Amino acid sequence: MPKLLIASSNAGKVREYGEMFATLSYETVGLRDIDLHTLKVDEPFDTFEENAIHKARAYAQASGLATLADDSGLMVDALDGRPGVLTARYAGDGASDRDRYMKLLGELANVPEGERGARFVCVIALVRRDGTTEQVRGECAGRIAFAPGTGTHGFGFDPVFIPDGYDVTFDQLPPEQKHAISHRGRAMQMILPILAGLSA
Ligand code: IMP
Repeated sequence: MPKLLIASSNAGKVREYGEMFATLSYETVGLRDIDLHTLKVDEPFDTFEENAIHKARAYAQASGLATLADDSGLMVDALDGRPGVLTARYAGDGASDRDRYMKLLGELANVPEGERGARFVCVIALVRRDGTTEQVRGECAGRIAFAPGTGTHGFGFDPVFIPDGYDVTFDQLPPEQKHAISHRGRAMQMILPILAGLSA
């Protein structure tokens, strides 16, 4: 079975992609599985698309495998789209998830209910072994809460993000329910048929 490299050192992310692609005839492997986790690739660009393709190309070249990479983040309307591609670094190095979402709540302290719109974005880039590329972009629109939710699911900004059509934050939705509407879930759904036609 041909291998598909998921360019991430995060075991949870690699497993999630593996489960999603279980019906395809690929063996998904993560960076740790092939000892490429020590190769650090930065994300220096202003768009999710450029960062994702940059990462996928770098790891495809290093591994010789068909490679998939993603870049994701949160775009807040009242902040003109920030933190965007800088979401992971929003509160500086060494900050916790809580530090980041509390900083966001602080920045939005005086923003009224109707102006707290935001969306999560996830771009997935695929580089085939012949060097051809594909990209898909999944989005999930919603709004930023006034205080963190009390859920136990999720990570990152989940405790302060209320998806459209819901009254609760992402961290209060069971994983399957989040997955069905999330930016990453949507992007995965879009890349599936493309992968089904992939010749690795
Ligand atoms: P990256 O895609 O690894 O660059 O990380 C993007 C950052 O966006 C993460 O560190 C999280 O803070 C945030 N993020 C991306 N997707 C989600 C999500 O589904 N829930 C909560 N936060 C997310």
